[in-house]
Amino acid sequence: MWDVIVVGGGNAALCAALMAREAGASVLLLEAAPREWRGGNSQHTRNLRCMHDAPQDVLVDAYPEEEYWQDLLKVTGGITNEALARMVIRASSTCRDWMRKHGVRFQPPLSGTLHVARTNAFFMGGGKALVNAYYRSAENLGVDIRYDSPVDDLEIRGGRFVAAKVGDIRYAGNAVVLACGGFESNREWVREAWGQNERGEWPADNFLVRGTRYNMGTVLKVMMREGADTMGDPTQAHCVAIDARSPLYDGGICTRLDCVSLGIVVNCDAHRFYDEGEDFWPKRYALWGRLVALQPKQIAYSIIDAKAVGRFMPPVFNGIKADTLPDLARELGLDEGEFMKTVTDFNNACRVGSFDHTIQDDCHTAGVTPEKTHWARPIDTAPFYGYALRPGITFTYFGLTTDDKASIFFNGQASPNMYAAGEISAGNVLGKGYTAGVGMSIGTAFGRIAGTQAAAAAVRIKAQGLLHAVV
Ligand SMILES: Cc1cc2nc3c(=O)[nH]c(=O)nc-3n(C[C@H](O)[C@H](O)[C@H](O)COP(=O)(O)OP(=O)(O)OC[C@H]3O[C@@H](n4cnc5c(N)ncnc54)[C@H](O)[C@@H]3O)c2cc1C
Repeated sequence: MWDVIVVGGGNAALCAALMAREAGASVLLLEAAPREWRGGNSQHTRNLRCMHDAPQDVLVDAYPEEEYWQDLLKVTGGITNEALARMVIRASSTCRDWMRKHGVRFQPPLSGTLHVARTNAFFMGGGKALVNAYYRSAENLGVDIRYDSPVDDLEIRGGRFVAAKVGDIRYAGNAVVLACGGFESNREWVREAWGQNERGEWPADNFLVRGTRYNMGTVLKVMMREGADTMGDPTQAHCVAIDARSPLYDGGICTRLDCVSLGIVVNCDAHRFYDEGEDFWPKRYALWGRLVALQPKQIAYSIIDAKAVGRFMPPVFNGIKADTLPDLARELGLDEGEFMKTVTDFNNACRVGSFDHTIQDDCHTAGVTPEKTHWARPIDTAPFYGYALRPGITFTYFGLTTDDKASIFFNGQASPNMYAAGEISAGNVLGKGYTAGVGMSIGTAFGRIAGTQAAAAAVRIKAQGLLHAVV
């Protein structure tokens, strides 16, 4: 019997386990993955979005609460809980000392990191180093860690946690923190959520998973069966356009393609379908996964010419290279005539002003649909490059309803000993859209709260048990 059982092994789970242990609880952490794949999506991260009123170590200038909140409001289109969002924002300004205490190191941002030097603190060694530091600290503090332990059922009585099950093994605990991610790795569930489109395709069959293969949503399904309150839209997710040659799982950050705003993007019919220069790439990259998902065969092609080379973070795979545009069309398997018409129409529509990729410049198109509103320059300088794009799903937003204590609810009633943190409940703050680094802010804030609350619940429940024994 443990005081606190933590289900999951990524950032949110580790924050919860560390806080619960620091509060004096005995803690068991059940991680689905084997040791070498521990850490879920958190192992792929690079940074944390942090509120700060003045320069702080690796963070320059200021990023006040109101600006952070407005950024979140904009990307979510208002599908967020303001009280919880502001709580996360405030917590992001004070969590780094605690993180350092557990071995996390920060570094100034590297170049090519999507212009987030002011708003985001970068982990030295990335998320892998962060996760390793937390595991080391958890081991030193005496957290009992079990790998290869995918929880497949929970024993819950009247909204109260009793035990977690991994196959035939039953782990009883006084309180639980569910921090086992979303369901993005569960291809069947994502397929069912996205359904069939008007062309008879199942779009999700062509999605790639940017992170871990272990976030199957098994515990979320169990919680739905048990009647826990859920929120969010199962089709909403962070979804990025990534290189179509990426592996099905764990391609990570390097499979993203950052050249979209420097050229044009066409679908498999060789037609453009969206303004490639709508806004700065960091504000648009999470939109393009969904845009590609809506195209026939869920594929698109980012086309650039020699002028764009060296202006974006180098992708992990080389682009398809050709000396002429018709050659490029053929290499990419696109209809040559349609492709040449699209490129020619675009090139003729370009009204080139002073090109500057660091501002929303005045290079735009006129008389072509869709228009390109910034950074529009003719595709005319050999060699030409094409990159096939696929939707790369990062994490899903549908999950468990929670409050500022990270409590899980059943029919509007807070459970006395069940808590949620991280992706499994991130949708309370992030109903839609994304702003870089907020995933780790949410997981860190709620993970720390959930761990503290679970440790306190365990104390309460033990005291009640003693009282019952005496009476
Ligand atoms: C490529 C990539 C880059 C990213 N970059 C950033 C970034 O720079 N900044 C940022 O803020 N966010 C980033 N994110 C998003 C970020 O990873 C998530 O928001 C955050 O890691 C969520 O933490 P978590 O602990 O909830 O989930 P995870 O880290 O995914 O952890 C979930 C854990 O639960 C375990 N698990 C799943 N099911 C079970 C089960 N049934 N039983 C036991 N264990 C189970 C998994 O094995 C895993 O260890 C990125 C994501 C990806 C994929």
